[in-house]
Amino acid sequence: MQEMVGTTGLILNEPLLTERGRKGRCGISLPRRDVEYFPLDASIAGEGPNFPDLSEVEVVRHYTRLSTWNFGVDTGLYPLGSCTMKYNPKTNERQAALPGFAGAHPLLPASLSQGVLKMMYDLQGFLAELTCMDAVTLQPAAGAHGELAGMLIFHAYHQSKGAPRSKIIVPDTAHGTNPASAALCGYRPVNVQSNEQGVLSPETIAAVMDEETAGIMITNPNTLGLFEENIQQIAEIVHARGGLVYADGANMNAIMGIVGVGDIGVDVLHLNLHKTFSTPHGGGGPGSGPVCVKTYLEPFLPVPRVSEKDGRYFLSEDFPQSVGKLHGFYGHVGVMIRAYCYILSLGPELKKVSQLAVLNANYIKEKLKDTLHLPYDRPCMHECVFSDKNQEAEKVTTLDMVKRLIDYGFHPPTIYFPLVVHGAIMIEPTETESKEDLDVFIESFKNVVKDAKENPEMLHDAPRKPKLRRLDETSAARHPCLTC
Ligand SMILES: *Cc1c(COP(=O)(O)O)cnc(C)c1O
Repeated sequence: MQEMVGTTGLILNEPLLTERGRKGRCGISLPRRDVEYFPLDASIAGEGPNFPDLSEVEVVRHYTRLSTWNFGVDTGLYPLGSCTMKYNPKTNERQAALPGFAGAHPLLPASLSQGVLKMMYDLQGFLAELTCMDAVTLQPAAGAHGELAGMLIFHAYHQSKGAPRSKIIVPDTAHGTNPASAALCGYRPVNVQSNEQGVLSPETIAAVMDEETAGIMITNPNTLGLFEENIQQIAEIVHARGGLVYADGANMNAIMGIVGVGDIGVDVLHLNLHKTFSTPHGGGGPGSGPVCVKTYLEPFLPVPRVSEKDGRYFLSEDFPQSVGKLHGFYGHVGVMIRAYCYILSLGPELKKVSQLAVLNANYIKEKLKDTLHLPYDRPCMHECVFSDKNQEAEKVTTLDMVKRLIDYGFHPPTIYFPLVVHGAIMIEPTETESKEDLDVFIESFKNVVKDAKENPEMLHDAPRKPKLRRLDETSAARHPCLTC
């Protein structure tokens, strides 16, 4: 491709600062020197670093331009499914940065940390109320970490009954971290398949549940974006044989204020504060995966626990049956503050968040189902799953279509997941997108499919508009070149 020259910020050719520098240029203006110039003895000062000479504005423009090359939820729709990546109110960032919170140190005594401890104590209560569970730990640092905590609690529970068990039932529509967490805890995951409707049948569970099985891990809504509607019956089957029910609630964004998870037979549940509750997921930042349990599992929660007595808040280690400590200090407090503010500012409106998230996903599903193949044509929760089956004749794949979507200015959705759908395209619009923005996305996807019909070659070659075209993803993973 011939390189374009120009002065506009829209031409994404940014030289390195070392290429840009010109000897003698200076980034700061100092007052004129009124003393003799006196060079430092090189043997004392040494050789300075070989930084390029640049003016202030050159540096500002360089970094400002680079900052606009990132695609994020602040620049456009980010429709990744399975891991809620939604727009979060900026005010919650501000509250987390309040000096009283930002300056709190975990080594301060409880007497000087009452505000932070109260915030955590109240947040535990909010999450218990929202999920209809009884007790909460905020300690785990991620969803998968919460799952591990949950599995340790399963183990401690069965141990306390004097009969440890060896297996866990994990459906094919569970999140991939579920079997991994079970295995990490020493359990053998037993895979079960969902039915033609994309959900679990009670009969399937009844056939595998036995006294060697510690329980089941159900992702609900599952990774097809469908609600496990038989969960109560399944819980009864598992409980009848002495097992426990774990619900992966990372996708709580679909059911907040609508489903009382504790009322439908769930014993242990984890939430992802860094998805549903106002901290962005992804980007490698800190997370928080609180675990909520029923009363009979409370003694096993990790320590320390945030406790309260006579209006004073403190951390307590005095729980002899606890599974122990899972994180340095008390987890990622900054994430908790955002969740605390998010819940306080929305209150009962949290239910509306979920209603809108579900409405938006169903809107996309209905508008695109005549264009893309929809393997499970039924009401979805917060995300919908299509496939590339209709494009087989043109030999156009899911990857080709989402790469073409980049030419229309959209970040690709999640692809080839969940594994139960061949060539899956999984879209989660979230609650904050307006109808107008959803319509542009839908229209763009329709155009992609039209392009696929009329000119399949173009799709094999997509994207065409960005500075970098189709990347060789295999080479990028196998032979990463990190310096050029
Ligand atoms: C994101 C997610 C997880 C894992 O959460 P992490 O914080 O990434 O460890 C688990 N289950 C489901 C359903 C998820 O969407």
